[in-house]
Amino acid sequence: MDNDILKVLYSQDEINEACQRLGKQIQTAYQDKFPVVIGVLKGATFFMSDIVRATDTYMQIDFIDVSSYHGGTQSSGDVELVTDITTDVSGRDVVIVEDIVDTGQTLKFLLDMLKGRGAKSIKVCSLLDKPAGRTVDAHADYIGFEVPNEFVVGYGLDYDEKYRNLPYIGVLKPEIYTNN
Ligand code: 5GP
Ligand code: MG
Ligand code: MG
Repeated sequence: MDNDILKVLYSQDEINEACQRLGKQIQTAYQDKFPVVIGVLKGATFFMSDIVRATDTYMQIDFIDVSSYHGGTQSSGDVELVTDITTDVSGRDVVIVEDIVDTGQTLKFLLDMLKGRGAKSIKVCSLLDKPAGRTVDAHADYIGFEVPNEFVVGYGLDYDEKYRNLPYIGVLKPEIYTNN
C-alpha cells in the first residue's frame, strides 16, 4: 500500500496529538452534558474511537452511515442515508464526528436531519477540513488538520474501499485513480 502514496501528510504521531487536543476541547465543552457522539461510517471509525477515548466525560456513542461518493474521487452531491442511528436525539447535545469536510454536502444533510429531529445543539468534530472544496455552507467546529485540495487516504479514508487501514494520512498517487 505504501507504494501507492505520493506523500505522507500526517504521521501516526501527529494524528495522535490532534486526537488528544480535540478530545480535551470536547471534554471541556461537554462536561456534565452527556452528549450523543455520532461517528460517520466508515471513514470516521478510527478517528471516532481515538477521539472518544481522549475525552474523559460521560457520553453516548452511536454511528450513522451516509453515502455520496459511489467509489470515485468526486462527491456525487446527492447524499443518502444508508444506516441510521438508534438514539433519539431530541433535546440532546450532539457531536458529529466526521473524517473530512469537502463540499460540505454530507455535513449539511446530517445537520438538517438532526436539527429536524429536535437536537438541542449540534457541533461537528472533523479530522480533516478541505475548505477549497466547499460548495455549501457547512463547517466543522473542531478540526484536526486543514488539507489542500488533493485526494487523501488513510486512517479511515478510502479510495474504492482500499487504504482505510493505513496508519497515517497521505496523498494518493494520481495514477492510481486515473488508470482505473
Ligand atoms: P463532502 O463532499 O460531502 O463534504 O464529503 C463527503 C465525504 O466524501 C467525506 O466524508 C469523505 O468520505 C469523502 N471525501 C471527501 N474528500 C475526500 C478525500 O480527499 N479523500 C477521501 N478518501 N474521501 C474524501
Ligand atoms: Mg465522511
Ligand atoms: Mg469514501
